[in-house]
Amino acid sequence: MSTPRRAPGGFPVVGIIGGGQLARMCAPPAVGLAVTLDVLAESPDASAALVVPAAPVGACDDLEAVRAFARDCDVVTFDHEHVPGPVLAALEADGVPLHPSPAALRFAQDKLAMRERMEAIGVANPRWARVRTRADLEAFGAQAGWPLVLKTPRGGYDGKGVRVVDAPEQAADWLEAARAGQAPFEDGILAEERVGFVRELAVLVARSPSGQASAWPVVETVQVGGICTEVLAPAPGLSDELAGTLVEAGLRIAGELGVTGVMAVEMFEVPDADAPGGTSYVVNELAMRPHNSGHWSIDGAVTSQFEQHLRAVLDLPLGSTTPRARWTVMGNVLGGEYPELYGTYKHLLARDPGLKMHLYGKGVRPGRKIGHVNVCGDDLGDLRARAAHACDYLRGTVTE
Ligand code: ADP
Repeated sequence: MSTPRRAPGGFPVVGIIGGGQLARMCAPPAVGLAVTLDVLAESPDASAALVVPAAPVGACDDLEAVRAFARDCDVVTFDHEHVPGPVLAALEADGVPLHPSPAALRFAQDKLAMRERMEAIGVANPRWARVRTRADLEAFGAQAGWPLVLKTPRGGYDGKGVRVVDAPEQAADWLEAARAGQAPFEDGILAEERVGFVRELAVLVARSPSGQASAWPVVETVQVGGICTEVLAPAPGLSDELAGTLVEAGLRIAGELGVTGVMAVEMFEVPDADAPGGTSYVVNELAMRPHNSGHWSIDGAVTSQFEQHLRAVLDLPLGSTTPRARWTVMGNVLGGEYPELYGTYKHLLARDPGLKMHLYGKGVRPGRKIGHVNVCGDDLGDLRARAAHACDYLRGTVTE
């Protein structure tokens, strides 16, 4: 017997290109909303393919596979930013409703385009330059000071594609690729000053095609080796004034770029003697999809980022983003040396009944994000300790 594609009553089908954990975490709210969720998965055992009724396998750069997938969906959205421009353009020409639109998504795919656009709309950037030659790099280094942070304009994630360089020689290979016009450096290398930030923050917003927008409280993201390990919601000690400025910047970016769905704006909080609280911000990068900095919202907010993303791409009224607790701490579970998780996981469920476990159904590999935990409550120190313990225990770095 085949599975009915739609719930009775005219409910829509949302298609997600990519079967990673973000698509997977849209499944529980899709069930509640009676929205049918399909994913175009990289493999039959992709994280989301394990939990949705229809998960055809196909690559996101295979136009015919993507077209066939989109044909059965009312709207199409994304699990990642890696769908190539020509595929997006073809879908758009076919009349497929894409959220976010390719015109908006470009600024999450291309960091050079993003820097130019942020400058144009008056959002704070670090000092930056488009570098094509050694002379460009030397000139920018002389102005901004070494070391510099160099970035591949496209394709980076989790710190891959980010290089801190003390001298031009350390970028010789990238400069050569730029000279030869090789991807991803056809339009040059993004060079940024190394920002002496106080901490990293993220603003999460959602915007619907009809222009309704919402924002969650600003969070602090803690990174180790370029990978986010912990998120504190809301960001402790952030002044109301700066929080307001950041949310306003996030909503302005979403409006100016015509973003539809959820968008995360990663930011650095920087010392600023002229600012009232002594700090201000610069934007680091944009992600136009549910984002790691918003995983806390599953348990910590009235409406999670995954539910809000579905509401936004369907142009449904948005839900409340009000926190459910004073604090929520999210800890990313990274894979360790032990592939068997079920035993450690049972121990943790018994040890801390208040811990909310979200595992992605992924095989364990050292350093791979395989899940996250959320804990909510009034005592931030206690919550951080519990989340860290759970992550360390699942990773195998503590055994008690
Ligand atoms: P990715 O796309 O791989 O996530 P990011 O641009 O977010 O790359 O950079 C990864 C990390 O590198 C950031 O979280 C931050 O810790 C650090 N970083 C990035 N840009 C700068 C910068 N201009 N100055 C200082 N640190 C930076």
